[in-house]
Amino acid sequence: MTLTGKTAVITGSNSGIGLGVARELARAGANVVLNSFTDREEDHALAAEIAAEFGVNARYIQADMSKGAECRALIEKAGACDILVNNAGIQFVSPIDEFPVDKWDAIMAINLNSVFHTTAAALPVMRAAGWGRVVNIASAHGLTASPYKAAYVAAKHGVVGMSKTVALETAEENITCNAVCPGYVLTPLVEAQIPDTMKEYDMDRDQVVREVMLARQPSKQFATVEQLGGTVVFLCSDAAAQMTGTTLSVDGGWTAL
Ligand code: NAD
Repeated sequence: MTLTGKTAVITGSNSGIGLGVARELARAGANVVLNSFTDREEDHALAAEIAAEFGVNARYIQADMSKGAECRALIEKAGACDILVNNAGIQFVSPIDEFPVDKWDAIMAINLNSVFHTTAAALPVMRAAGWGRVVNIASAHGLTASPYKAAYVAAKHGVVGMSKTVALETAEENITCNAVCPGYVLTPLVEAQIPDTMKEYDMDRDQVVREVMLARQPSKQFATVEQLGGTVVFLCSDAAAQMTGTTLSVDGGWTAL
């Protein structure tokens, strides 16, 4: 299972799942383009570390996924894009009648609209190469809902729907498009939710993790970024060439409940 010679662009990949996915794609031989909205020395250093560890080309390209033109420019600057992993995402939790409009707009822009813009820019590149893989990191919240996550749940359901549409539009073209639906993965995005949840439920950290976060995750374990990376590598392999327009849950049984 080798992706040598392929170039993968992973949005939102200076942290968490995106970085884990980039590392596993590089381990499988792909050249990788890392991305986030910042342009710090440590962002570029992450790419240099991956290049040194796995012997692939790795670059960091700054682009803000909340802006359509920057999403499209990321694909153009990458030069090649055999594999597109739409991973950038943010979260905000609030009852819908109090949901700040700017947070709603930011979640829609980063979690949903960016997938439209990068995919629209990447498909012509994949068609020219005669091969392509689009992998969208959705969520268990792309298939189910939780209270107070209106924007996130709406955006992730949108990503699942868009994945099916892209799969149908590319079905005869050696290009696949699928959505990966993680349950809880312990990343900075999830860490950031722990203090507020501790306050809200008057619980300690362990109780929040087991009784709130993993309440719907029957395995009672977080999924890991390496497992998410392995799932993406599988979707890029020949074994998955006939898998398109579907969802793969990596959620410890959440959506079986
Ligand atoms: P994270 O906060 O560690 O990573 C998010 C990444 O997106 C970071 O690299 C961040 O820099 C980037 N990002 C944020 N805003 C951006 C912008 N405007 N432009 C470009 N990049 C931007 O979070 P994570 O948990 O690794 O989440 C990654 C994806 O996985 C998200 O789409 C998230 O919804 C999804 N997800 C996470 C979990 C989980 O439990 N952690 C579960 C299901 C789905």
